[in-house]
Amino acid sequence: MPTFSPSGVRQLPPTLNEPIRSYAPGTLERAALQARLAQMEQERPDIPVVVGGREIRSGATVQATSPHKHQHVTATWHQATPDDVRAAIESGRASWREWSEWTWEQRASVFLKAADLLAGPWRDTINAATMLGQSKNVYQAEIDAACEMADFFRFNAAFARELYSEQPVSGPGMWNQSEYRALEGFVYAITPFNFTAIGGNLAGAPAMMGNVVLWKPAATAMLSAWYTLQLLHEAGLPPGVINFLPGDPVMISDLALNHPELAGVHFTGSTGVFNQIWKTVGGNMGSYRSYPRIVGETGGKDFMLAHPSADVEAFCVGVIRGAFEYQGQKCSACSRIYVPASIWPQVKARLTAMIAEITMGDVNDFRNFMGAVIDERAFDRIAGYLADAKANATILAGGGADKRTGWFVQPTLVETKDPGYRLLCEEIFGPVVTAYVYDDAKWTETLALIDRTSPYALTGAVFAQDRTALAEAHAALRHSAGNFYVNDKCTGAVVGQQPFGGGRASGTNDKAGSKLNLTRWVSARTIKETFVPPRDFRYPHMAG
Ligand code: NAD
Repeated sequence: MPTFSPSGVRQLPPTLNEPIRSYAPGTLERAALQARLAQMEQERPDIPVVVGGREIRSGATVQATSPHKHQHVTATWHQATPDDVRAAIESGRASWREWSEWTWEQRASVFLKAADLLAGPWRDTINAATMLGQSKNVYQAEIDAACEMADFFRFNAAFARELYSEQPVSGPGMWNQSEYRALEGFVYAITPFNFTAIGGNLAGAPAMMGNVVLWKPAATAMLSAWYTLQLLHEAGLPPGVINFLPGDPVMISDLALNHPELAGVHFTGSTGVFNQIWKTVGGNMGSYRSYPRIVGETGGKDFMLAHPSADVEAFCVGVIRGAFEYQGQKCSACSRIYVPASIWPQVKARLTAMIAEITMGDVNDFRNFMGAVIDERAFDRIAGYLADAKANATILAGGGADKRTGWFVQPTLVETKDPGYRLLCEEIFGPVVTAYVYDDAKWTETLALIDRTSPYALTGAVFAQDRTALAEAHAALRHSAGNFYVNDKCTGAVVGQQPFGGGRASGTNDKAGSKLNLTRWVSARTIKETFVPPRDFRYPHMAG
């Protein structure tokens, strides 16, 4: 391809967050989305492996189903074979030379166009796929699949421009420059089921920086991942830049992680899987061409803490939304709350009353606040925690689970008197929140307790009107959360506004959708040019 490198220092179109549509009764957007949902329920795409733009159907198929209606098949997908994985790595190598040499403006324009397609003609498709395939209600689908994905693409373009414009100073007689090269090799993106936008971003962010990517989507988010790939191709992403490998995660990872050309891993998922990936990479040191960049955002055990001065209503609404939206399947979901004894009777009464009002069911019915959890494995795991709570704690609301038509788990509030109880320590990834009531006089001790209770440090929130208490919480919980909220729920980070990620066992905290993340996908080359080089090797101090 002839390299088109026009002169000029480019500005980008304004970088704005995609406005969230309401889908309220009577709106045109609601009617359009409902029509697309009805149509998509009749479709059953046959999803291939995609290597170098070529669709490969191995014949070894898996059926994807709707979590809220598990007898309903949404798609059939073909599993990649080991040869497909090898072919994808080769295809990436072939595409790398050209793609990594495109100007950043050419690469950014692909993603800016994808964002506009997503906000426009693709919006209903990507939202409907996320609703049917991952059981998100309309609002949860909209903020994820349409808005957050468009935000990732637009803000990453702006952050890339900012990064590329960071240049060193130059002394007299020379010109120093930084060139932000793509990594040599391929980036392996492994994505979770719970956010369609994370799929787009884990594959898209390294690609925007000039890398080629092997994308292994989650089996339980295959429908939305497939549409995301098609969207990127429609936006002009050349074949082979992102190769699409649905299939056995262990086999695919084994081939990708053991390949000498592995240049980076972009992972979001559970801590255990990430630790395994890191171990494999660590065990291979010496056989890679470069040191692979390892970026992983993993689990959480996110807390909401009320001070005696907290606004009870605001705290309770925050807990309900934070704990139960998307069935508690956000890495940021609130799953432990700490409440002082003085306000606990009011908090308990409000939470149980609100839980009684929560509607749950098929996400096609827009009146529902909750859908189903993702699959039977998740259902059984969460049911195990409910059984534990029945035996060892007090269930104040919910506690039931029913898998006859879909994987439905009731929104559940548990109370324990044991601050080390496992439901306060372990990630459940379901609609279960556990309360610990503390003595009002023990505010300082409670802050220390929250900090040491779980290995994670993803999100946390404190509610207080008392400024001194807030200042103490800020300091005591400094390392307890990578995203810390004051008088707000612990979920709902927006790209460009609250860069997202946590420390400790929650990941490498490279903040998805920020410049920090993009720096991991480039390898800088420093260039020094001297205009009038010295012509004498001797220095002045040698004179005499
Ligand atoms: P998961 O770890 O089960 O799966 C994530 C991905 O890893 C999937 O593509 C899966 O197929 C793949 N995988 C599974 N086993 C593997 C193996 N042995 N080797 C290589 N890959 C493997 O996670 P999930 O259930 O899809 O997502 C939920 C988890 O993700 C939760 O722990 C949640 O906290 C975390 N999460 C974190 C963030 C964050 O920003 N910190 C965001 C979203 C989700």
